[in-house]
Amino acid sequence: MAPLQHEFQFIESIRQKLSAHPRLTVGIGDDAALVNFPRQPDDRQSGCLVTVDMLMDGVDFTVPPATPRQIGWKSLAVNLSDIAAMAGRPVACVASVALPRHNGFTLGQGMMEGIAACAERFGVALAGGDTNTWDGPLVISITVLGEPTSKGPVLRSGAVPGDWIMATGSFGGSIAGKHLDFTPRVEEALALHAAANLHAMIDVSDGLAADLWHILDESRVGAILDAASIPLSVEAAACRDEKTPLEHALSDGEDFELLFTVSPADGQALLDKRPFDTQLTHIGQITAARDCLLKSADGNLTSLPALGWKHGFK
Ligand code: ADP
Ligand code: MG
Repeated sequence: MAPLQHEFQFIESIRQKLSAHPRLTVGIGDDAALVNFPRQPDDRQSGCLVTVDMLMDGVDFTVPPATPRQIGWKSLAVNLSDIAAMAGRPVACVASVALPRHNGFTLGQGMMEGIAACAERFGVALAGGDTNTWDGPLVISITVLGEPTSKGPVLRSGAVPGDWIMATGSFGGSIAGKHLDFTPRVEEALALHAAANLHAMIDVSDGLAADLWHILDESRVGAILDAASIPLSVEAAACRDEKTPLEHALSDGEDFELLFTVSPADGQALLDKRPFDTQLTHIGQITAARDCLLKSADGNLTSLPALGWKHGFK
């Protein structure tokens, strides 16, 4: 067997070895899991969404320039973004921190202020955690528990040919600051879920192309993305380096926007109704062919690989 190169092969290897569990309605492979806590024997609605993300100094942020408060905000917000991707409501969180022995107390206090600010903004309870010190850099892992709405969670696997592909916000250049200070799209996800029949949804953490591929793989479909309609962030549009602004938008990652699919009728109704102020754009179509194509302004089609961030192995 070829050596494992990145996190997704590792995750797939875990997934293949696991058998179904009667209490797991949604398991590995989506933005959050749904664990069932039945109140009656036939009750499959009383579920808890659960998601965890670990952030490491030098990978997900660098201190400085990132402030302890920004790190705290980001470490909870990335998890809220995953609950949003399931169209769920975040309820509570627990935080585990590995603080550097040198200056870790002050760093930790600032970080907890950032977590508290984000928790308060989204009405999430900080229910507990674990504190360690060591000679390594700052590492923080937050687990968030949430609840699906009465319409149930939105999975990555529900896209069907003909669907519109839509996205909130704009893409690219998050490294300029958005990756630390973004607002997770919790309210937007709930508004979309209430207003339309969402077929599939993911939050864009790895990159627009990479995360679209997660929807395509889980739904066993393809897509055509319309290059001219992809909303470029101000930062991506201003980039003057080896990548074009469009390449930044497709591959930078950490936009923490929602990428979802709906029927064309629902998509048009959402554009007409505008359920929130955040930008909402129709950026492409789901197709039956298992491929992802990028359509340029002059109508040319090129294959779009899963450009984006992956944790790798050496
Ligand atoms: P996201 O980008 O939405 O945070 P990830 O790419 O980190 O999602 O993870 C994809 C899926 O793999 C999720 O369902 C996650 O719970 C699962 N996963 C990741 N790492 C592990 C692991 N070490 N053990 C079990 N499941 C994992
Ligand atoms: Mg996610």
